[in-house]
Amino acid sequence: MMRLTRLLAPTLRDDPADAEVVSHRLLVRAGMIRQVARGIYDILPLGLRAVRRVERIVREEMDRAGAQELLMPAVIPGELWQESGRWEQYGRELLRMKDRYERDFCFGPTHEEVITDLVRREVRSYRDLPKNLYQIQVKFRDEVRPRFGLMRGREFIMKDAYSFHADAADAQREYQVMFDAYTRIFERCGLTFRAVEAGGGTIGGSQTHEFQVLAESGEDAIVSCDRCGYAANVEKAAARPLPLPDAPGGALERVATPAKRTVEEVSAFLGVPADRFVKTLIYQTSGGAAVAVLVRGDHEASGTKVQAALGGDVVRLADEETVTRITGAPVGFAGPVGLDLTILCDQSLHGIRGAVTGANRADEHLLGVEQARDFPAVRFADLRQARAGDACPRCEQGSFGEHRGIEVGQVFYLGTRYSEAMGARFLGADGRERPIEMGCYGIGVTRTVAAAIEQHHDGAGIVWPAPLAPYGALVVPVNVGDAALRETAERVAGECEAAGIDTLLDDRDERPGVKFKDADLIGLPVRVTVGPRGLQKGCVEIKRRGEQHAAEVPLAEAAARVAALVGPR
Ligand code: ATP
Ligand code: MG
Repeated sequence: MMRLTRLLAPTLRDDPADAEVVSHRLLVRAGMIRQVARGIYDILPLGLRAVRRVERIVREEMDRAGAQELLMPAVIPGELWQESGRWEQYGRELLRMKDRYERDFCFGPTHEEVITDLVRREVRSYRDLPKNLYQIQVKFRDEVRPRFGLMRGREFIMKDAYSFHADAADAQREYQVMFDAYTRIFERCGLTFRAVEAGGGTIGGSQTHEFQVLAESGEDAIVSCDRCGYAANVEKAAARPLPLPDAPGGALERVATPAKRTVEEVSAFLGVPADRFVKTLIYQTSGGAAVAVLVRGDHEASGTKVQAALGGDVVRLADEETVTRITGAPVGFAGPVGLDLTILCDQSLHGIRGAVTGANRADEHLLGVEQARDFPAVRFADLRQARAGDACPRCEQGSFGEHRGIEVGQVFYLGTRYSEAMGARFLGADGRERPIEMGCYGIGVTRTVAAAIEQHHDGAGIVWPAPLAPYGALVVPVNVGDAALRETAERVAGECEAAGIDTLLDDRDERPGVKFKDADLIGLPVRVTVGPRGLQKGCVEIKRRGEQHAAEVPLAEAAARVAALVGPR
């Protein structure tokens, strides 16, 4: 049994000023995290217990699926990243540093290189395969916009697993084994989620699913078909070309659009609907080359699809300075006409007429733009994000609905991208040497805790899904000055603990109102209240978090009732 007077759980009445999402606000207010620097947190005892709950479920399911736990270093020699090619490719999210001998190191954001290096040294023959190795470890990614508390930190805890198989069919089977393990993990966490098709990002790899916890505050958008259930990240879901907007052709015309940069602003200013705009975005590849990407004004470009169109090279949006250098105009005024650059064009713009684009000059746009006449030298591809109402590419009958999601996990089939680059080979039964087939599988442990809160809270605080709750029950004597109440509460808490429930006792000398507020804020599944009126009848009150109704239960039955409500831990 843990006493609140002993616990470091500094609860706060007011919301922290910098917290934009519920989980961030509540984790801080419930005394579970404190910021140390941007995106870097202390995880306090209550918060850590929730983290450990997730870890335990993850371990049990990974072990059950045949994976083995190991621990790799957090600080990684730069040479390994140079070998894979990611030292250059990864960008500024990679925290690079030098040791006292001026040698390059980085703080691991993910561990494909380290594990591949281990396996290439220790695995020789097909007899040493397959292997699936995982760790639970602190990662560092120097995110551009760390925010939302544990949802997008710079330092965070991840479970990362890597599989090694002799052939592609085996590796694909393992992908499914991990997919199923992830499904069980997030079900056991008590979360509502979808597994969706996704893009590979900087990890690379041809087949991948994200596990997305459904929540309004999610940073990802996903679409799912209302008929066949196919679901994908909007970045990934194949989007059909749409019919061209109805617009007359005409001569090219230059118009002044002073300080109007966004499609919305120019559209309102000119009285032309957004679907007649050609939006021009400048991307940069990892090598620094620039490409222009065109999508319709009411569409969003998909970085994942741009990356795929460029053969898998990692891309990012160019910064303002680069855009100005390349287009000759400030951001907001780029356009494809006369632009001397590789141009990728979304297929919905094929043959568009009467369109509006930036003029590559400050405060000017072009009207009457015709794709075939004015920017014919482009490569067409599907480059836009899918959205609600789009036809399903899978069953071709349903249409997409859209939801927000928090990516809590991702599984990748990698093939031989790393084993080939780093020489992780094995001797087959036929005596021939081949690169090992790989997969990798991540879960954001700390992000899962935040996602659980995003999905399970109310106006008063957290409503933990029981499997993740830091403690199963909170026992509250309404007045610790009253010896009978205090001693009864102690006894009930002890009995709950003996019944296998992790129990917290609010032994603070506080007013009942304060205690109840904190109880709701911390959000443990069950509250047991020991008050004078109940005690006269030999009863305590048992209330489930998230329900209004409290039941009066005889003292002797209290622990059993709490155990039934909390469930097996
Ligand atoms: P995101 O797209 O959200 O930046 P990612 O796709 O780059 O994440 P992965 O490389 O797939 O992340 O990492 C595996 C898991 O680690 C993710 O599914 C996510 O749950 C978690 N994760 C990644 N970045 C962060 C972060 N900055 N803070 C907390 N968890 C993170
Ligand atoms: Mg991911």
